[in-house]
Amino acid sequence: MRQTAAAVVVGGGVVGASIAYHLAERGLTDVVVVERGALGSGSTGKSAGGVRQQFSTEVNCRLSMLSVQKLLRLEVDTGWDPSFRQDGYLFLLTTEEHWQLFQRNVELQRSLGLEVQVVSAADVQEMVPPVVVDDVVGATFCATDGHADPTQVCLGYAAGARARGVEIVPATTVTGIDVQGGLVSAVVTSGGRIETPLVIDAAGPWAASIAQLAGVDLPIQPYRRQLYYTERPEGIGDHAPMVVDFASSMYFRPEGPGLLLGMTDRSEPSSFNTNTDDVFLALLIEHAVARVPALEQADLLSGWAGLYDVTPDANPILGRIPEIEGFVVAAGFSGHGFMHAPATGQLIAELIVDGTAHTIDISSLSVVRFRDGQVQAEQNVICRSTVAPGRLVSEVKRVGAA
Ligand SMILES: Cc1cc2nc3c(=O)[nH]c(=O)nc-3n(C[C@H](O)[C@H](O)[C@H](O)COP(=O)(O)OP(=O)(O)OC[C@H]3O[C@@H](n4cnc5c(N)ncnc54)[C@H](O)[C@@H]3O)c2cc1C
Repeated sequence: MRQTAAAVVVGGGVVGASIAYHLAERGLTDVVVVERGALGSGSTGKSAGGVRQQFSTEVNCRLSMLSVQKLLRLEVDTGWDPSFRQDGYLFLLTTEEHWQLFQRNVELQRSLGLEVQVVSAADVQEMVPPVVVDDVVGATFCATDGHADPTQVCLGYAAGARARGVEIVPATTVTGIDVQGGLVSAVVTSGGRIETPLVIDAAGPWAASIAQLAGVDLPIQPYRRQLYYTERPEGIGDHAPMVVDFASSMYFRPEGPGLLLGMTDRSEPSSFNTNTDDVFLALLIEHAVARVPALEQADLLSGWAGLYDVTPDANPILGRIPEIEGFVVAAGFSGHGFMHAPATGQLIAELIVDGTAHTIDISSLSVVRFRDGQVQAEQNVICRSTVAPGRLVSEVKRVGAA
């Protein structure tokens, strides 16, 4: 492992790999990526791979729209096929409040150039016949949304970074970050010390503990999310969209010959627990069968759990920590880190190489928003944090003392 580097990326998930690739593409190749396990072994390898552009804030729509463009050319850029399929996302709205919110979202999305359709319950029935639509007030559909393979995207960016001179070090844990006179000076790892003026915290659900090594409090907490794989009922075709029952947060999409099925347990507290659990599974099945009765006959084939890295406003924290020169964060994606990783890599590389992210204005995603009270929470989230924002705001305030 190198003993000096221009930059050290902590975390070899899809976000860290994308950042390393884009730095190298911009000519900054003296970069080391330190990963505790194997590439993609954190949240990335657990993800449902969903890619959607339907958000409630401009910045999140733009992050996704840029990511879609980048996924479409990932194979040309890196030689790795991301298996990106644009089969769409279909949001089912069953309350008047949600329906109003989504219609406002559609106005915003269209103003940004995204083609989104407002569809009726009858249209939903035609698109995915086994779905119960009795209670559906309306729905939105974006045909260019879809899903891709998170591991392929992560390995593709990592391979592209490595080919350009980046060193990727798996099975190595970051244990310390040296800060002298307010400047980052070194990253300490289980494999040795790397002198560097720049560290990028891309440690996903562990990002707050990495920041803590430099004395920084970040309002990012881990939340377990479970996914299950079942047989696929007839009538849900290979190219069926990702269907999201927004009120219950239950979602499903075809995956190979089966169906990927997930939901958020909104009562679950923050933890690093990654076990599946039968009580939650029973609840998921109840919601899933209510929406797709044919699922009652489907066999459950497998299941797993991973972690979301959640912030109080469900938006990522992107950019520099003002109090420590040389400390950059790209974490807190709140369940959207796979779809936002391609854009994030480019924007963080712009920030580092050019001094500012110019393709998309990400200033609203700076950690200082929690201190300034300039928080615009994302409304279109499948998971809603149960963390009391007040407590996290005070945690962020302590950054100033770090
Ligand atoms: C069940 C589930 C479904 C999901 N579905 C979607 C979806 O459909 N669409 C979407 O966009 N997102 C989805 N997500 C979220 C998405 O997976 C994450 O936002 C994304 O993978 C985050 O990538 P990352 O690189 O930031 O984090 P990770 O992939 O977690 O990478 C962080 C890495 O840091 C490493 N690390 C931690 N501590 C240290 C240390 N001390 N030293 C060295 N390395 C360290 C970890 O080993 C890990 O590999 C889902 C997540 C889950 C759990």
